[in-house]
Amino acid sequence: MTGAANDTPQEVPRISLTFDDGPHPIWTPRVLGALQRAETRATFFVVAPLARRFPRLISEILRYGHGVEFHCTEHVRHTEQSREEVEADVRDGLRELRRQGVCPRFWRPPWGVLAPFTAEITCAFGLELALWTEGTHDWRGDPASEMLERVGPELRPGSIVLMHDGIGPGALRSGCGETVALVEGLVERIRFLGCEPGPLDATLTVGTSPTSEAFSEQERPVGT
Ligand SMILES: [Zn+2]
Repeated sequence: MTGAANDTPQEVPRISLTFDDGPHPIWTPRVLGALQRAETRATFFVVAPLARRFPRLISEILRYGHGVEFHCTEHVRHTEQSREEVEADVRDGLRELRRQGVCPRFWRPPWGVLAPFTAEITCAFGLELALWTEGTHDWRGDPASEMLERVGPELRPGSIVLMHDGIGPGALRSGCGETVALVEGLVERIRFLGCEPGPLDATLTVGTSPTSEAFSEQERPVGT
């Protein structure tokens, strides 16, 4: 298992910070800078071909004590692929990450969309599914202040916050500047609540990662 060693006493309630769709040569370093200024760690769900293109960013993420976990090889919904295609996607992605010394514990399928066979594939590769509880919708390009206003009241111990350090296929923005700007305010709010922000594995004990109850960003029921 990769991820950050954690020195905060376990009784402090935790909230996880997670970033998808990276690494990105411009935005990942800026997100890392914002996390360092806020003195916290996070989990990065990486896209394997981007990890292959930017291996130095993977080492940088690990060097700062953050977690590197698996997002996908191709950013395609499982419901739009066959079981064999998804198995090949995971096999190729994990091979690339292992080649860089990374053995993921968690898998966040693209778009957070699960197919009927996703859980079986998860078990077959010894992974744990990890969706999220609070989506910031940062891919829309909303200002950081608006995102904080929306997500802030929803935060509670055990929350898993989704942000993006890359420009995924669904993004309606060309840069992640508002995500960088959001980090400090979000961490402040989390600490104000008496919680400690951190990487996913500091929050979740083995086998307790959220699955079906955490809705994907596109599928969250209206008004909830
Ligand atoms: Zn994604």
